Amino acid sequence: MNQAQSAPSPRLLPPILLLGVPGAGKGTQAKRLAQRYRIPHLSTGDIFREMAHSESELGKRVWNDMRQGNLISDDVVCQVVVERLDRDDCRGGYILDGFPRTLPQAVWLMDFLESGPRTAVRVIVIYLTVGYNDLYRRLLGRRSCPTCGRIYNDFTQPPRQAGVCDLDQSPLVQRKDDDPAVIRERLSAYEQQTLPLVEFFRGRGSLLELSGAEAVDRVTERLFAAIEQAALEPPPAGAA
Ligand code: AMP
Ligand code: ZN
Repeated sequence: MNQAQSAPSPRLLPPILLLGVPGAGKGTQAKRLAQRYRIPHLSTGDIFREMAHSESELGKRVWNDMRQGNLISDDVVCQVVVERLDRDDCRGGYILDGFPRTLPQAVWLMDFLESGPRTAVRVIVIYLTVGYNDLYRRLLGRRSCPTCGRIYNDFTQPPRQAGVCDLDQSPLVQRKDDDPAVIRERLSAYEQQTLPLVEFFRGRGSLLELSGAEAVDRVTERLFAAIEQAALEPPPAGAA
């Protein structure tokens, strides 16, 4: 999909937040948005997976939570996010994928954006919905390339050759937390701690709801259209 020429300048884009249950397609879509708008894709899950590989004490604690499907503590998460947002490449906009994931994280972020060094007058929050019946298939079928990060799915987005990345021929890997027992915990954490954010952002007038259940390219087209429309509109009264 090469529509980069008609994409709006990143200077016009407020921060974009992707909300949705694990398996809704946030990571796949975030990568496409990042490419189109030439802005960084910040995935807290990716950051923590990298930390979990380190031998540090914090890395071990992070992995202990991740492998059980638990969320990492808000303090640690917000610290990681503030360090990332502080970098120069976030000046022209960015996509947050998997953050915020709890009400305290959302409140912290809005406060940070209203008063911190990365002031933003508004945010675009995309809520990608998908039925629970699809989720196990999506999560169990998910594979990713350890070299380029591209995400595949054995059921919905298979690579041309089974188990091998189309772009660089690396053998694809499965996330350790895409395992039935851990998936159950992750979905339960989502329902209890993340789902309330939908009402939080709806109440601020900044939520765009979009079905993530359709073909990946179709969802991408809808996302581009929704974001570009939202970027042109004046911020809703009282919205961040
Ligand atoms: P994800 O790749 O977004 O599914 O995240 C993988 C795991 O990283 C989650 O199951 C959590 O353990 C952890 N994680 C990622 N983002 C957050 C967050 N914003 N708050 C707490 N834990 C997170
Ligand atoms: Zn690859």
